[in-house]
Amino acid sequence: MMERVQDQYRALFEHSADAMLIIDDGKFVDCNAATLHMLGYTNRADLFATHPSQLSPPHQPDGLPSFDKANEMIRIAIEQGSHRFEWIHRKVDGTDFPVEVLLTAISAGSKTLLHVVWRDITQRKKAEEKLRLAKYVTESTSEGIIVTDMDLRIIEVNPAYCELLGYRREEVLGRNAGFTKSGRHDNAFYKSIWNTLHESGKWQGEIWDRRKNGEVFPIYLRLNTIYDAAGKPCYYTGLFSDITHQKRTEEQLEELAFNDPLTGLPNRALFHQRLMQDLKSCRRHENKLALLFIDLDRFKNINDSLGHSSGDILLVEVGKRIKSTVRSIDTVARMGGDEFTVILSDLEDEHMAADIASKILATVIQPVWIHQHEITPHMSIGISLYPRDAETVDDLTRYADMAMYHAKSEGGDGFHFFLEEMNRESKRRLLLENEMNAGLSQGQFVPYFQPIYDLQSGQLVGMEALARWHHPDRGLIMPDDFIPLAEETGFITTLGNHILQQACSQVKTWMEEYSQELSLAVNLSGRQFNSNELSDQIQLILDSTRLPPHCLTLEITESMVMGRIERTLNQLNQLRDAGLNLAIDDFGTGYSSLSYLQRFPVNTLKIDRAFINDVLTDRNSRAIVRAIISMAKAMELDVVAEGVENQQQLMFLKQLACQKVQGYLFSKPIPADQFELLLSGGDKPYQLSC
Ligand code: C2E
Ligand code: CA
Ligand code: CA
Repeated sequence: MMERVQDQYRALFEHSADAMLIIDDGKFVDCNAATLHMLGYTNRADLFATHPSQLSPPHQPDGLPSFDKANEMIRIAIEQGSHRFEWIHRKVDGTDFPVEVLLTAISAGSKTLLHVVWRDITQRKKAEEKLRLAKYVTESTSEGIIVTDMDLRIIEVNPAYCELLGYRREEVLGRNAGFTKSGRHDNAFYKSIWNTLHESGKWQGEIWDRRKNGEVFPIYLRLNTIYDAAGKPCYYTGLFSDITHQKRTEEQLEELAFNDPLTGLPNRALFHQRLMQDLKSCRRHENKLALLFIDLDRFKNINDSLGHSSGDILLVEVGKRIKSTVRSIDTVARMGGDEFTVILSDLEDEHMAADIASKILATVIQPVWIHQHEITPHMSIGISLYPRDAETVDDLTRYADMAMYHAKSEGGDGFHFFLEEMNRESKRRLLLENEMNAGLSQGQFVPYFQPIYDLQSGQLVGMEALARWHHPDRGLIMPDDFIPLAEETGFITTLGNHILQQACSQVKTWMEEYSQELSLAVNLSGRQFNSNELSDQIQLILDSTRLPPHCLTLEITESMVMGRIERTLNQLNQLRDAGLNLAIDDFGTGYSSLSYLQRFPVNTLKIDRAFINDVLTDRNSRAIVRAIISMAKAMELDVVAEGVENQQQLMFLKQLACQKVQGYLFSKPIPADQFELLLSGGDKPYQLSC
């Protein structure tokens, strides 16, 4: 039995793929075939009675003599029963190779044998060394390295990556690689990266990323796919290089290439680029854009008579002045010589271009002192418009240039649009603006008055003041022809105050003269209403005219109060606190939101005259008028029906118990002296005895 076990053991020993040996008293006494093969011996007897150090180089990698170290290993194995360690052996041909040694103590009677197993670990050592090298490279490189699985989950990063992005390794492991996206690129951009990566296995390019502290910075990114032995993709790697410095240098170079060294303004190249960008954005947002081409008049004379350095000073000053008149989003460029361009982007209204051109002219055409000489720059401006005139950079530039020559041919110090109709229109507006200003000081603007009657009693209870312009050449001009422009230019505030002042003063006089209380309604424009000085202005007028506040009603429209509720409420409450009345004009045309209305301290609704006009022919209008009147009643508001032109309309309103009426049926808006006839009874007032 015992013998059979021994035979089996012998067979195992002999056929094991690992080298196996037996040590007795520090010497090899047996070994198997694999040992001979490993060491390159042919004769088993050659190994007998050798000490392990005789099959090894003189020293082990840690520097210890193989002889001493081998004895130490044997001692430990006997003491502990077994011992595993790494060792360098030497083949018969002199080459060294690493093995993992396992010594196991076996008691055999009175002595202890050691069973030895050697496993060749050359391959493992090589792989370990490779890994160690790879680790060294990834840890010492200054480029960030990231490894992700196929779902882009981060499985490893190197220290440079952590430093670059500002995260600790543990903070990023397991996260999606996209978590440092800067937000500067759209989804399409990332999608195109992944498409390329999928198709070709790699991608590289510039990209903006975000650090943990929120800072966005540029990197050069190289993405690669790693495949397994079967050619299946299993990892992605990313190599991040910080290119902040490079970018900065590029920008500095760009600055040099794109700026005019004399004035510091963008040069022709940058102008071109900006115009292209602005056009793109205007196209996307359906905005308008104006291009101003500016050329100094008679600049050559200055250069010739005062020298180039004076000319340079003048150009710098002109550039500064132009820039000071436009918004920061607009581009002012120097094209070379005495030519400048201005890009006005995101224009709401094309006429703004004319306003800005006039402003530039007014600002630039002021004396400059250069070397004790007073010089006044003169210039001509040409304007082209996107999309009205042209859609491309070249066409817009060409047209603005052409328009500039037109302005020059008209004597300079002016501007000219490329399109004749724009010219006419802008000239008309400028003329009108100037005339309005002059007309106001010459008393050409006066209020007309349209009477308002109480429908039940038939009594004249008040009037609405409506602005009229007595133009010296064109006769009577109606508000629709000047209020819109006055609104745009801001002139309306002065004009509105003027009308308010005159109307209040007139009505106060009438109230005293005819001992009758009258209610005066005056229209407020949006701009007036939004002005912070409104209540102060009105208080001033009420004080100076001594019209009791409750006799004044300010008419505002729904659109003026909608939207900015809080601000509006403040304004309205202030006016109400001063004792004034408030009416919503043109009611029914706007939002007519009840819930809004309830929050406003309003006294009166004026039904828009369009509804009164249609009340007999259109069921809808009839329903609206009916609804407004009953709603006003429920909310205890006064109602005035505007634009009553005939008896039938009046009848209808009376049936609905509408309180007040106003319209051509009774009287058109009339000048003060005619209105006085109504008050004095000299002109037979309309009889509301229906
Ligand atoms: P609004 O406030 O709705 O004024 C009523 C308009 O209807 C007036 O036109 C008046 O003449 C007209 N009207 C009155 N009864 C009838 C009628 O029976 N039939 C017809 N077809 N029309 C009638 P007007 O005077 O031309 O004023 C037009 C607008 O100009 C006013 O509309 C008002 O919005 C504005 N406006 C007038 N004066 C001033 C002012 O001093 N300041 C401000 N901000 N706006 C004013
Ligand atoms: Ca009105
Ligand atoms: Ca109205």
